[in-house]
Amino acid sequence: MKTKIKTNPFENYLERIEEISSLLNLEDKYKKKLATPDRIIKKTINAKVNGKNKTLQAYRVQFNNARGPYKGGIRFHPKADLEEVKTLAALMALKCAVANIPLGGSKGGVTFDPKEASRKEIEKISRLWVRKMHPFLGQHRDIPAPDVYTNAEIMGYMIDEFEIIKKQNEPATFTGKPLSLGGSRGRDTATAQGGVFVLEELIKTVNSLGEELKIIVQGFGNAGFHAARILHNSGHKIVGISDSQGGIISELGFDPLHVNKVKEDKKPISAMYCVGTVCDQKKLDKDKAKVVTNEELLESKCDILIPAALDGQITGENADRIQAKVILELANNPITPEADEILNKKGIIVVPDILANSGGVMVSYFEWVQGLQNFYWTQEKVESELKKFISSSFNEVWKISKMKKLPMRKAAYLLAIQRIVEAMKARGV
Ligand code: NAD
Repeated sequence: MKTKIKTNPFENYLERIEEISSLLNLEDKYKKKLATPDRIIKKTINAKVNGKNKTLQAYRVQFNNARGPYKGGIRFHPKADLEEVKTLAALMALKCAVANIPLGGSKGGVTFDPKEASRKEIEKISRLWVRKMHPFLGQHRDIPAPDVYTNAEIMGYMIDEFEIIKKQNEPATFTGKPLSLGGSRGRDTATAQGGVFVLEELIKTVNSLGEELKIIVQGFGNAGFHAARILHNSGHKIVGISDSQGGIISELGFDPLHVNKVKEDKKPISAMYCVGTVCDQKKLDKDKAKVVTNEELLESKCDILIPAALDGQITGENADRIQAKVILELANNPITPEADEILNKKGIIVVPDILANSGGVMVSYFEWVQGLQNFYWTQEKVESELKKFISSSFNEVWKISKMKKLPMRKAAYLLAIQRIVEAMKARGV
């Protein structure tokens, strides 16, 4: 899929911060803090990918810890670079503040394509990332988690390596771990479940949305698959779904569990109907289905569009062609500021990433608390706390949005910045 990002994502972040800082009349020293990461750690990792020796770039950006230890995922992706990691670290600080949890913001990454690497090679790269970064990590310093193309298995290797280095158990240093190593129940589905709770609050608040909604999900990983599955189970129709190689749409809707069978065979979603470029027209006609590109998927008719893949997907170039009534950002940073303006003028409600996908970091926070206490919660407790936290965040953001006549993103940024600045002031920064 061709990349649509026209500007540097960090510049987009700065543009948004500048606007809200002016609204809040923030002093320059706070503006500067919000625009500058506390620490950038850049290392190289020498490892094999697909049997070949490579030197990989590895990053950890610690953006702001005024409200608590740095917190943020690690991304393994061929396009992961410093600007992206910096932006995602900044968004984590805002997200934890909107969630009102006592954590700051950081993010990590390694630039390589894990799809080309063997399991052993990925384990080695994961362990080497910890070897390089461990002086900066810790349960009260910086707490990593999974992100794009990293998962519980990788967190298992990482916590193991970290504890070997530290010569002690410290389960709260990583979240998103396997249950057997102190992971939290409900962490694997938390981002999606949180997004669904937010959507349910929105449906209650905006009566005109209706009940049985037509939903398109871009991305079929942790966030996208579980969101599609939960929403399908709640009676909504998944009328479009995609992965990195394209997608399928049908007004009749898809069962995400059927789609997942194809993915479990390591095939693209289009393999539901096609082998390579040859498609079964009869089957497509029967299901009223069409194979589409990711661009076409985003522009297809639906009530709710859920970007759940990468950033920079909706830009000034395609925003005008978006037909959804609501965009629920499960991905981080999928919409550029230019696109935000266009969507706003079209009356499309954008539920911003720092609210919509905050279920992941909320349950990471619960996992951290459980790890520190060595006392583990039931699935019911995790879900009920998640619902309580995220519904409260939604209602706070919605209230600001209505009171100040601001789109939800600006309202969420305003709430986050107020909270972070309050903590900085209390520290006497
Ligand atoms: P994942 O690695 O599990 O899945 C990523 C999915 O996106 C895969 O299905 C992949 O095929 C698809 N994809 C990749 N490139 C694509 C492209 N160009 N077009 C369409 N689809 C593409 O990742 P994830 O954890 O589900 O994360 C997805 C997004 O959600 C990211 O932006 C991530 O930062 C964000 N997010 C995830 C969590 C979490 O807990 N997993 C929390 C907050 C935010």
